[in-house]
Amino acid sequence: MAHMDDSLKAALYRITCPDGATLGNYHLGLLAETAAQQVAHHLAICPLCTREIAQLEAFLAETAVSLQPSTGERIKVWIAKRLPGGGQNRQGMGAATGTPAFALRGDNGGPLMYEAGDAQLSLEIQDDPEHPGRKSILGLVLGIETEAVEVKLLQGDGVVTAVTLDEIGNFSFTSLATGSYELTLSGQTIEIHVPDLNI
Ligand SMILES: [Zn+2]
Repeated sequence: MAHMDDSLKAALYRITCPDGATLGNYHLGLLAETAAQQVAHHLAICPLCTREIAQLEAFLAETAVSLQPSTGERIKVWIAKRLPGGGQNRQGMGAATGTPAFALRGDNGGPLMYEAGDAQLSLEIQDDPEHPGRKSILGLVLGIETEAVEVKLLQGDGVVTAVTLDEIGNFSFTSLATGSYELTLSGQTIEIHVPDLNI
């Protein structure tokens, strides 16, 4: 009997229920004031329409989330490719001895040049005059939006140090221990990786 009661109640409720479109417009705040008041009054007494609004709300929330592109889709990730020239004054060292780490040291040559998608990156690695035995990196990146770009030096998964790119694309690191680093530049739309930077 209880079950029949419920269906009867449901049927009665539904007779006076606003249709789905009206409920939707009400939820979105698109109804005129008097119409909105009628729906609000009805919702106060009708569990079915209340549930329908809740379902609509859940549906809209889900749709909104899926319409937003994930960060992975928005950000272009480039692995920087080393260009010939710069930092190679130790004639053919890398090729001849199979010690690329050694050949990549830039302290005796010009800046190391990289290409990463639309961007060009140059890194000048020098002795840090203020910190004997340590190194500095002067970097310049061209061809990217320079606003809010973070430049990080990593070893393993740890960030050793990080700076922000200035508006013309310069950055610098000082007082670095020699070693092998990964350099990353991450902005709102791009991410550039220099995987093997040996200083
Ligand atoms: Zn209703």
